[in-house]
Amino acid sequence: MPCVVGRLGRVGLGLVLLVLLGMLAPLAAGARPAVGSLPPPERSPASTPRGVASGTQVDLLRVASLPLGARAGHAYVLGAVVRNGGSVPTRRRVVVFLLRVGSRPLALGSSAVGVAARSSRAYRMRIRLPRVVADGSYALVACVRRAGTDGGLSCVTAEDHLRIGPGVALPRGRVSADGCSSGARSLSSSGSDLYPETGNGGYSSVHTDVFLDYDAADNLLLPGTHVMLTDQATQCLTDFSLDFERTSTNAKDGPDMSVTSVLVNGQPARFAFVQPTYPGDPNGQNDPDPRAHEASQLNPVGGPENNPFPPACTPELMSTKPGKQDSLDGTQCPANKLVITPAKPIPGGATFTVAVAYSGRPGVHNDGDGTTEGWFRNSQPNDAGSFVTTEPVGSEDWMPLNDHPSAKPTYDFYDTVPLGKTAIANGELVSQTANAPDVNFPGGSTTWHWHSPEAIASYLVEDSIGSFDLTERLAASGIVYYEAQDSSIPKNQAAANQAIMNMQEDIVTFQSMFNGPFPFTTDGVVIGVPSASFEEEMQTQIAFAGGTIDLDTFNHENMHQWWGDNVSEANYNLTFFKEGLATFGEYLYMARNAQSAAGGPGTPAGDAAFENSLIKSFDAAYADTGSLWTAAPSDPHPYTLFSGATTYVRPGIAYIALRRILGAANFAAALQQMQATYRQASITEPELEAGFSAFLPHPTQSCRAELSQFFTEWFDTAYPSGGGENRPQITGPGLDGAGFQCS
Ligand SMILES: [Zn+2]
Repeated sequence: MPCVVGRLGRVGLGLVLLVLLGMLAPLAAGARPAVGSLPPPERSPASTPRGVASGTQVDLLRVASLPLGARAGHAYVLGAVVRNGGSVPTRRRVVVFLLRVGSRPLALGSSAVGVAARSSRAYRMRIRLPRVVADGSYALVACVRRAGTDGGLSCVTAEDHLRIGPGVALPRGRVSADGCSSGARSLSSSGSDLYPETGNGGYSSVHTDVFLDYDAADNLLLPGTHVMLTDQATQCLTDFSLDFERTSTNAKDGPDMSVTSVLVNGQPARFAFVQPTYPGDPNGQNDPDPRAHEASQLNPVGGPENNPFPPACTPELMSTKPGKQDSLDGTQCPANKLVITPAKPIPGGATFTVAVAYSGRPGVHNDGDGTTEGWFRNSQPNDAGSFVTTEPVGSEDWMPLNDHPSAKPTYDFYDTVPLGKTAIANGELVSQTANAPDVNFPGGSTTWHWHSPEAIASYLVEDSIGSFDLTERLAASGIVYYEAQDSSIPKNQAAANQAIMNMQEDIVTFQSMFNGPFPFTTDGVVIGVPSASFEEEMQTQIAFAGGTIDLDTFNHENMHQWWGDNVSEANYNLTFFKEGLATFGEYLYMARNAQSAAGGPGTPAGDAAFENSLIKSFDAAYADTGSLWTAAPSDPHPYTLFSGATTYVRPGIAYIALRRILGAANFAAALQQMQATYRQASITEPELEAGFSAFLPHPTQSCRAELSQFFTEWFDTAYPSGGGENRPQITGPGLDGAGFQCS
């Protein structure tokens, strides 16, 4: 069958790559300086959790960036800071690598440095760039062994990446002061009943600097906490908005914060909190009619005779009970829109900064299904801190932002935390800086700087602070892996977690066969203790709640790094698009296990078992006679967005069918094309469908029409209950159902 041949083709390609890598390895090793006591990075060692080491405990705190315009073949001197937290002096070798995803780490140089017990030392080391470096953007990463000769690594990434070859020019907007008006206070279209209160128009979000001063013991963001947003106006703006939930009816775990000042381009700006208005209200965003500001699960809010308008927000349910889902319909939406009026209008096309200072207790958001997401407090004895999982809108319960999945700025995090606490955020760890005692932190503090060179959707921003054991791994694929878990997790469980976390490189390698190269410079896991509502695919820092991690979910969340994270959904109703692909990732994981049991990849029996497993997964779910077919995946309601099989299983098996329709090789090519086209951006449903349609093996008009009908049936149709006739009829070759007729 064509799909089996296609799969063999991919495996064959993988073998060729492995052989090539094997040939390159000795060359690379010969070309680089001695790496001292560090083993080659492909033999990533088992990590030793922070705190386990007895005599010495070494961390790299910072490494300087290469100068702008650094050239291949030249030598440079870099400053670095290393700390020995242990009780005996030590001498360690620090190695500096150049990392680019998809190529082996290049060791640039190393030097041994002696550090006294319980002290830090700044020193300088000489490195040389190789004579030939392929074009691209490279992270400069310095690593040291934390303890002994086989402990985990402590690595830091220089703040600036090294760019070899031509850069990417940023598009420049035309600056215009014509026709100034308010920015839209929603990014949803009229009639949306999925979190229509979130997102803000009139500008695009370019970059965000987050400065948290966090008192872990009392779970408070202290004065000094602020965000600095860099935005670009897409129209001339008299005023614009952000999303920020200062207080909620959840008195125990909800937020209790206040904004103290707002600066636009460094100048004081007026600000006010207002209720959202239903998107598209012809009476404007300040409509005096109270019915324009009501919550509901459905559109319209209360039936034509009551309130005929669409909802302005999704109700913040205090209970997950089905009988309570409509209990807040028709109530007034909370005033969570932070409207900012600068001293003078911002011209269209202009880049501007917004600094919002705030403080108080961050918290969780009660979602439209009654679950809570956001900033979870950990208040166990000796283990105070926080744990962040936020989907779909909980980020606004700990920081002001443009809270919409299509708003994707890049980020820097500067978290100042009590001495001994660890901050875990997205992207690359740049530095840890020790601060002298001050009013906020009488016992001293540490500022953790994390940098995400890649754009992050609103619900994927990670920022957990607590007693985390953090170690790093450096992989042959050029990716840095962060592994963090709460230090209060019992030893046996922590060891079991560690063994699973160590498989991330293997999962990435496997999933790359379908999705293409890993889209970020880092990947990682943070395992927290609080029992949050669910695990979440935080970008490059997958968050596992409740102190444990499991492989099946790990495969699901890691698949999200491509789907949801790198390529995000354009709106909440497309949650099925990325949850379906993550569920497809679970089916791939099952198929991979079947393949291994039957002889492994590349063997006829193994590859047949792989395909048969996918067929079995499809057929088993397709036989459903229950709720799988009674709601359309692209038209979910808040109450069922994350609980319905229509968000997960139905699109998940639709991708199995699509893979059989297109053929395995074409299916993977379609995925990889979409990864490239919509990289660090978001995708709409028509774009998704066109992305697959472009890879039909027989792209005739009738085949395109049948595929279009396939998408309508699988993504957009709600059927009467019962299954059978009342479910999608078009499937794929070799699957139950009518198959795909066009060939
Ligand atoms: Zn998911």
